[in-house]
Amino acid sequence: MRKKLLVSLTCFTVFLLLITGCGEKPEKEQAEHSTGLFAMGTYITLTAYGEDAGTALNFAKKRITELESKWSVTNENSEIYQINHSQGNSVEVSQVTADLLQFTLNIAEQTDGALDPTIYPLVEEWGFISGNYQIPSDEKLQELLQNTGYEKVSISKNRITVPEGFELDLGAVGKGYTGEILTDLLKDQGITSALLDIGGNIQLVGRKPDGNKWRLGIQDPFGEGTLGVLEAEDCAVVTSGGYERYFTGKDGKNYWHILNPDDGKSADSGLVSVTIIAKEGRLCDALSTAFFVMGPEKSEKYWREHGGFDMLLVTEDNEIIVTDGIADSFVLNDGRNETLRVLEQ
Ligand code: AMP
Ligand code: MG
Repeated sequence: MRKKLLVSLTCFTVFLLLITGCGEKPEKEQAEHSTGLFAMGTYITLTAYGEDAGTALNFAKKRITELESKWSVTNENSEIYQINHSQGNSVEVSQVTADLLQFTLNIAEQTDGALDPTIYPLVEEWGFISGNYQIPSDEKLQELLQNTGYEKVSISKNRITVPEGFELDLGAVGKGYTGEILTDLLKDQGITSALLDIGGNIQLVGRKPDGNKWRLGIQDPFGEGTLGVLEAEDCAVVTSGGYERYFTGKDGKNYWHILNPDDGKSADSGLVSVTIIAKEGRLCDALSTAFFVMGPEKSEKYWREHGGFDMLLVTEDNEIIVTDGIADSFVLNDGRNETLRVLEQ
């Protein structure tokens, strides 16, 4: 399975591709406006429809830059950087950062620490921040794991305290929350139709301007191209996969960027990709990362206990598991050899 992942050429792939409608000319009031920027370590494309969409997208871009400047792990002025260099002192942060961190800690607790925003020292050691990849020794991993554990993060109003040596990383949730924030911003600006692609984290506003649902290609985690097509509207669709960012070690194995907080190594749960579909982008982003660590059985259990979202899981042995809420909206491409299993509530 890991060998098949080598087929993927880029280290960081946009894994949800918009399948465009053909031939339809938008009417004047539905004029398409599109803009792109590099931020949050990825390429972002924002597309919105309507006469005022250009102005609305400019507001959206500004908001992305603001959020990035709060959450960046490398920008010395960011709130996260301040926390990561606080030497055990508390740091006052903005409401939006406190909200995101509180949400992340809640999901960390609900997933028994599969999602853990204190994982940053490990992410850094593996080289996923600098690009200088290396395989740390087991001793090094154990040493760094001493400085992790979401339970030790405290939030009191907007004051965040982490023990000395702890460092936070909102990389698993920030892009999803950004999509959610931008959706509210665009709706406030009167936009009723938009597609936001934040490095493959998709947030949809309403339907396509022609009134049809959006059609999204779900990236094939085993190679290039897509697995199938998902129809969706007014929601977020977020995928986590090992193929997005990985390196091949000197031992010939692939090591990817989603780590199991129990041992500090690339998560090896039997899943090769996880797509979550829900209204809230932050929930989709948090759960897609957590489920990639948890594997199919625990993910199904979480879904049955909590609900409120749909999911599409791809296992390393070619099974696609979808929840009943999207079973009729997902169509597997012709000629695929995966088996499709539907989970009924
Ligand atoms: P995503 O692409 O949303 O699945 O997030 C992956 C990113 O989150 C990685 O690049 C790391 O920065 C960070 N990360 C890796 N493993 C975890 C984890 N178990 N919990 C929280 N964040 C993680
Ligand atoms: Mg995520």
